[in-house]
Amino acid sequence: MGLNLLSHILSLKLRTTFISYVSFGESSLVTPCTSNRRAFFLECFSHNTSQSSCRFLVNVALIPIVIVKSRVQLYLILLVRYCPLWAKEASPHGFTFGFLPKRPLWGLVTRSYNAYLSRADERLGIQVRVFDRHAGYLQHVMDQIVACTQRENLLPELSTQVTNTSRSKRLLKVVLVTSLHPEYSVKLKRMFWEQPTSTGESIEVYQPSEERVQQTDKKLHDQKALAEVYLLSLTDNIVTSARSTFGYFAYSLGGLRPWILYKPVNRTAPDPPCVKAVSMEPCFHRPPLYGCQAKTIEITPFVMTCEDSNPGLKLIFGYVFKSLGLKMKILITFIFSSLLIGSVILLSFSNNFNDQLLDATLNGSSESETSHDKLIGGLLKAGFDEGSCVSRYTKSLLYRKPSPYKPSPYLVSKLRRYEMLHKRCGPGTEAYKKATEQLDENQVRSSDKECRYVVWVATEYGLGNRIISLVSSFLYALLTERIILVDQRKDINDLFCEPFPDTSWLLPLDFPLMGQIDSYYKDYSRCYGTMLKNHAINSTTIPPSHLYLHLLHDYRDVDKMFYCEANQAFIKNVPWLVVKSNLYFAPSLWLIPSFQTKLIKLFPQKDTVFHHLSRYLFHPTNQVWDMVTSTYNDHLSKAEEVLGLQIRVFSTPSGYFQHVMDQIVSCAQREKLLPEVATNGSSQVINTTRSKKLKAVLVASLHPEYSDELRKMFLERPSSTGEIIQVYQPSGERVQQTDEKLHDQKALADIYLLSLTDNIVTTERSTFGYVAHGLGGLKPWILYEPKNQKVPEPPCVRALSMEPCFIRAPLHGCQAKTIKTTHFIRPCENWNLGIKLVDAPDKFWWW
Ligand code: GDP
Repeated sequence: MGLNLLSHILSLKLRTTFISYVSFGESSLVTPCTSNRRAFFLECFSHNTSQSSCRFLVNVALIPIVIVKSRVQLYLILLVRYCPLWAKEASPHGFTFGFLPKRPLWGLVTRSYNAYLSRADERLGIQVRVFDRHAGYLQHVMDQIVACTQRENLLPELSTQVTNTSRSKRLLKVVLVTSLHPEYSVKLKRMFWEQPTSTGESIEVYQPSEERVQQTDKKLHDQKALAEVYLLSLTDNIVTSARSTFGYFAYSLGGLRPWILYKPVNRTAPDPPCVKAVSMEPCFHRPPLYGCQAKTIEITPFVMTCEDSNPGLKLIFGYVFKSLGLKMKILITFIFSSLLIGSVILLSFSNNFNDQLLDATLNGSSESETSHDKLIGGLLKAGFDEGSCVSRYTKSLLYRKPSPYKPSPYLVSKLRRYEMLHKRCGPGTEAYKKATEQLDENQVRSSDKECRYVVWVATEYGLGNRIISLVSSFLYALLTERIILVDQRKDINDLFCEPFPDTSWLLPLDFPLMGQIDSYYKDYSRCYGTMLKNHAINSTTIPPSHLYLHLLHDYRDVDKMFYCEANQAFIKNVPWLVVKSNLYFAPSLWLIPSFQTKLIKLFPQKDTVFHHLSRYLFHPTNQVWDMVTSTYNDHLSKAEEVLGLQIRVFSTPSGYFQHVMDQIVSCAQREKLLPEVATNGSSQVINTTRSKKLKAVLVASLHPEYSDELRKMFLERPSSTGEIIQVYQPSGERVQQTDEKLHDQKALADIYLLSLTDNIVTTERSTFGYVAHGLGGLKPWILYEPKNQKVPEPPCVRALSMEPCFIRAPLHGCQAKTIKTTHFIRPCENWNLGIKLVDAPDKFWWW
């Protein structure tokens, strides 16, 4: 049987060799054949057709796995590299060898292909095999890969400039990395996320498996390996490691002439780093160079020394062309040129057509955007310089669905009045100068009450904490006719653009109290709570020029007196309020009766406070926006539905925990946010409906393992609905590094991306998640905090509203009664110590 088979294959080889190289010449063959084959391949996979051509492909493609055992024998893989349609035509036998493909293998290939490669304009395969005593991640190998791909124009250089290329017109290049070691793709992915490319192309990096160690003869390991060979063979260009038979198989199968990475010597990246192979043939590493073959080798023009192995021999078919007669050469050149010209005409027609279509879509959408939503229902003011902060007006373009929540006319007019006040009192104005002079005198002059300030100090807490406290402080400023100035010493400038026109919200660095504010805490003599505690305030007290408000999570009952109506009467007369907070204290402002009246007018829909104010205030800088848009366009925009998963692990130590993973899956499946998968070991698709719906899952977490596991789960087993599940995690920082510029920028990009999803699952009491769902106008599913390392039951709950929770609300004292009677304020889900705003009428119906 084995021999029989071999002779069949050999006859196929000779024929197809003739067809593929003599008829069209080597280089012309690669592209049309490859793309035909890709479509054909997938057609076979997806329909499981019984067409004989498909069966041929499937059977022949599997042969090497069955027969190949040693490296020398692996040479036989060259027999299956040809374009199957032609091969079939060339075959007089029909070539059905009886090796039926296993469903799980095709599943691995098609799920990967459909989810990660199919949308790309171009695919680059990089096969990284490390033949080193210390196999794993080696920096010189990484450097070599980057040097090779950039030198050969397979990947673009990085740029420090954010290019102005229209995002929707950017070419998407997917890099498929196969390696035992995940670090190469992680580094590559990070490299292209953190900085834009010089060409404006979007680069998406995907690695299907990361087995770390070779486990030959383990079923799933081998299936994954073979699936990756196929995936590599479906790329347009391929870079492979020297002397790797895995790579030989992939490029030969794909009909691709690879770039071969030279073997590093002395652990340094070789120069040049790689070479383009002369043919797509594998190398015969141990050929008999002497003896009976010695002379034939010397005179055979289509055998040469391998690029990656000396002594090693490979076939090069270009020489066959050279050895043809003149007439044949002319005929071939004519056919080739006609084909080439035809393809160019066809291609340019289709490109023009596509461009026109794109332009129409773009123009159409931007026109409707200008007229409808560029200013988000009047929330934003027109007239800012658009280039310096691209996100400001284009932000709403990205939202999958326009927000159903419109700002009230009162809020819009209040914001316009605020902007005028800020311009009048902001840094650089005479009013600001006068107001700061009072700080030296430490007393208020009655004539200087026109401009009053809230100074928001950046604390050491994370981005989520900062944003929610900033929104609360701004709301307070809006309600009390003050302007807000934000401490710029941390990286606020690298994250957000200026929100107010013709002025600045940044507290000048020469602010007179700047040298002291870091030390302000509960024990500071001008801390409002401390003054109350020391009875330093009574009805005759002259208001000081500044007060420090300690509104951090560790505040005392005296600090919470800030939320009482009577105390506001005193605070009102203090021109400078310096606030430190990490809380979303907006709900408690609603419980101050005089504020409540205004707030109801500002936000008739009570649970939209954070949604509106965060969209008004926060416009990511161009650098952050580039991270957001590139990820959005490459990974989310083509999906019919996007699910956001925000996974924050508060336990110490933090990291990957199986019970957290189980909880996420249990929540998502129970709430029908993700489909079930076939049980382990079963190759059956649970439900035969073959929905081609693409659902993207965007994971935000410090730990990349959650998305890795989820991706693996949906690649290894078919889903019950037939949906294609694509899992993507933009960053995976592992540890919190607040105030490290790039880290914070990535955190903000993650938050924004989560806000662009259709449904979102967040972690209980994570302010990072609060910002994401509030900004996105999304009512999240909240993952309960696990106790005793067990999956909680139920694993999650649907939130009451999209508002953040005020987790340390003053529940007693002056607000106690109002909390009970204000029905649009509710205890947070599973957190009775917190309160949140929900959308409910102002009064109970029986009032
Ligand atoms: P909280 O601690 O969950 O309430 O959220 P914070 O935003 O206040 O603090 C957590 C900080 O850890 C973030 O600001 C980030 O610096 C980092 N971090 C936590 N989760 C993520 C994540 O999913 N992605 C990124 N990029 N950073 C995260």
